[in-house]
Amino acid sequence: MATGWGSLLQDEQQLEELARQAVDRALAEGVLLRTSQAPSSSHVVSYAPFTLFPSPVPSALLEQAYAVQADFNLLVDAVSQNAVFLEQTLSSTIKRDSFTARLFDIHKQVLKEGIAQTVFLGLNRSDYMFQCNPDGTTALKQIEINTISASFGGLASRTPAVHRHVLSVLGKTKEAAKILSNNPSKGLAMGIAKAWELYGSANAQVLLIAQEKERNIFDQRAIENELLARNIHVIRRRFEDVSEKGSLDQDRRLFMDGQEVAVVYFRDGYMPGHYSLQNWEARLLLERSCAVKCPDIATQLAGTKKVQQELSRAGVLESLLPGQPEAVARLRATFAGLYSLDLGEEGDQAITKAIAAPSCFVLKPQREGGGNNLYGEEMVQALERLRDSEERASYILMEKIEPEPFRNCLLRPGSPARVIQCISELGIFGVYVREGKTLVMNKHVGHLLRTKAIEHADGGVAAGVAVLDNPYPV
Ligand code: ADP
Ligand code: MG
Repeated sequence: MATGWGSLLQDEQQLEELARQAVDRALAEGVLLRTSQAPSSSHVVSYAPFTLFPSPVPSALLEQAYAVQADFNLLVDAVSQNAVFLEQTLSSTIKRDSFTARLFDIHKQVLKEGIAQTVFLGLNRSDYMFQCNPDGTTALKQIEINTISASFGGLASRTPAVHRHVLSVLGKTKEAAKILSNNPSKGLAMGIAKAWELYGSANAQVLLIAQEKERNIFDQRAIENELLARNIHVIRRRFEDVSEKGSLDQDRRLFMDGQEVAVVYFRDGYMPGHYSLQNWEARLLLERSCAVKCPDIATQLAGTKKVQQELSRAGVLESLLPGQPEAVARLRATFAGLYSLDLGEEGDQAITKAIAAPSCFVLKPQREGGGNNLYGEEMVQALERLRDSEERASYILMEKIEPEPFRNCLLRPGSPARVIQCISELGIFGVYVREGKTLVMNKHVGHLLRTKAIEHADGGVAAGVAVLDNPYPV
């Protein structure tokens, strides 16, 4: 994929000067992270890593990703309301994966007591790579959908100015004008604001469940700031605070420090390490409440890799979205090969295929946050170890997407600018709000492009592998 940055990437002196300008602009725009040395403090911060140039993205695939986002929102919402589908889909997984089992347990408890929540809010991000086919064509293939704590909407709103700056310095005004405007944080905040409004209590607040050590705080603040501009107040608390100072009244309204909470927005709680016993209890308290959870526990489960794999089975989309064949076709077109590893013949065949062609597959456990998947020789060893064990049901197997690499220059605090072969992953942010059975909002609200060196199979920006980027439509 040609962008025309080729010759620019060869002039080392010019790159260094451009990098200095780009970094200063990124800092000025607020493309910031706290440092790994002081993740709880904003006294000294640095820029979030990013590419010096925007990276090529086929316009048709960008449009396709935007066009299918409302369908993915509908699908996630449908799965979250389908207790039978969730139970069937996750039954083998929860036997062997204690984290998913714990989430599922809360889901069951809430169902048993009766769901008090009447307004539902989804803020998700569907991620894709561009499969490069042998005939030279490219295809949009979904990597996963994130239904909890989907991040970088705030920083992605601020990176277009940085790339426009770089291209303007080079006198490339026509190219600079091609960088798309992007404001996911505004759209995400609009979803929270709508849910807050439908909850219908003027003095109620938004409770952001935060981690103590949060390098990505400026990303979250971008959303908080948008809400405050609408006069909606956000309080940041940890799970531990909820267990100490959170309570429900007899109508299961949620109170924190005596203040009513309309919306709970999770930026924590998506990994096993986020939960102590006390935190699980806090999560249950939040789920039992009538506050709008973003996401509620069923929607978090709808985002598991096991659900993703089951959705790709023949007939499943049709049964979840009846009477919507066009939406089904748009969704299915983005699916890569996905294979169950449940005990049985189907799983045995998948394992045999993956062991025979390791470079064509990825082995995925039910985890979020990057760095958990297995590839190549490591995958083969794991599959051989798991072959005869029920534990294999806690994984899925996925076709490995092979994008065409391109060259770009990655900028990270403390490292020299590096020109390397890269691949990108495109995310589209989706927002929906449902009141009872009525969908009152369903839209896409922006994008995120992340780029990484080809030698890294796995990992996102937070994991220190990928960097922020912008699509350069080609
Ligand atoms: P996580 O929930 O940890 O983000 P992902 O499914 O997004 O899990 O995988 C993490 C990273 O691994 C992705 O960002 C991508 O770089 C890489 N990856 C995942 N699935 C595939 C795939 N099928 N083909 C190629 N790379 C993949
Ligand atoms: Mg991911």
